[in-house]
Amino acid sequence: KTVFLSGASGYIAQHTVKQLLDSGKFKVIGSVRSEEKGNSLAKNFNSPDLSFVYVKDISSETAFDEAFKQYGSEIDYVVHTASPVAFDVTDVNKDLIIPAKIGSTGIFKASVKYAPNLKHFVITSSSFAILDLLRENDHSLHLNEQSWNPITFEDSLKDAVQGYCYSKKIAEQTVWKLGKELNVQFGITAINPTYALGPQCFDSSVTSVLNVSCEFVNKLIHSKSDSEIDKSFVGPNIDVRDVARAHIEPLLNSEKFNGQRLLLSNGRFGAQSIVDILNEIPQLKGKIAVGTPHSDDDIQNRMSVINNEKTKELLGFEFISLEKSIKDTASQILKVEGKL
Ligand code: NDP
Repeated sequence: KTVFLSGASGYIAQHTVKQLLDSGKFKVIGSVRSEEKGNSLAKNFNSPDLSFVYVKDISSETAFDEAFKQYGSEIDYVVHTASPVAFDVTDVNKDLIIPAKIGSTGIFKASVKYAPNLKHFVITSSSFAILDLLRENDHSLHLNEQSWNPITFEDSLKDAVQGYCYSKKIAEQTVWKLGKELNVQFGITAINPTYALGPQCFDSSVTSVLNVSCEFVNKLIHSKSDSEIDKSFVGPNIDVRDVARAHIEPLLNSEKFNGQRLLLSNGRFGAQSIVDILNEIPQLKGKIAVGTPHSDDDIQNRMSVINNEKTKELLGFEFISLEKSIKDTASQILKVEGKL
C-alpha cells in the first residue's frame, strides 16, 4: 500500500516514515520543500520504497495538485503532517494560520479529487487544538478527546503561541468540515499530540538548534550549573516514537479509527522534571541547571486534567515514559557532540 506523507522532513514525520518503511507494509511518497531536503532524507533512509515530491509552500490551495495529479491513483493513504511549528514569527496569520488552514484544505481537496483509491486520511493536529492554554493552571478544567481549545481567530493574532494553537485548531476543523461537506467515503483520524519529545530519527538531524519541542530540552542539556530554570516550560508530553506509531494505527484499521481524535499524552512535566532526569546522567550531573529538585513532581495536581483513556484504549499500547524520552534525547545529543 502507498502512503502520501506531507512534510516528510519534519521531526515527527521522519519517525513516521521510518516506522512505515520498517513495517514492510508500505511504500511512502513524501513531500518536501526542496531537492536538498529530499536528497538528504533519501540518503538517510536508503530505501527503494521511499520517493519524494516537491511542495514548496502549502500556503496555496493548489500546492498539492501537481503531485496528486501525478500519483493520485497509486495513493491508498494520506498522512498530512506539514504545518509551521514556530513561535518566533512576526505575522501570525501569514506565517502560521494561513499555511495550516490552506495546507489542510489543499491536501484534502486534492485527495478527494485525484486519489480515487484513498482509504484513510490522517491529519497531524495537536493537543493545542484541545487544551485551553489560558487555563492551564486551572485544575478544575477537565479535557478529553471531545474538547476544543476555545481560542478565537482575533485573540490568536495577539501572540505566536496562541496563533499556533489557532492554526492547529482551524487546520483540524477544516478537515472534519470538508469530510462532511464532501461526504467522503474514506476514513479520517486526527492525531493530537502533546509536546513530542525524544531523539531525532537520525543523528545527522542533531544540530545546535533543534525543532521547537526538542529545543526546550536541548537548551536544558546545554544549561550552566547556575542557570535559572524556565518555569513557563510546562506541558503534557508524549514520546515522538509513540506519536509516529499512532499515525500508523489508523492505516492498519481504518474502521476502528474513523472519526476519532487521538489525544496523545503521557502525563505532565515542568522544566524541573526534565532537569531532574538530566541530572541522573553522569556526563551532565554537576554541569547543568539544578533548580529545586522534584518541585514539579506533583505538577499534575496543579494543572488542567487530561483524560485520554479513550485514546489509550483505542491504541492499546503502553506509552514510552518521560524518563526514557529525555534520556534517549540526551544520549543522542551527547553522542553527536562526542561527549559520551
Ligand atoms: P517540524 O518543524 O520538524 O516539521 C514541520 C514540517 O512541516 C516540516 O517538514 C516543514 O518543512 C513543514 N512545513 C512547515 N511549514 C511549511 C510550509 N509553509 N510549506 C510546506 N511545508 C511546511 O515539526 P514537528 O515534526 O514537531 O511537527 C510536525 C507536525 O506535528 C506539525 O503539524 C505540528 O503542528 C504537529 N505537532 C508537533 C508537536 C511537537 O511537540 N513537536 C506536538 C503536536 C503537534 P521544512 O522541514 O522544510 O521546514
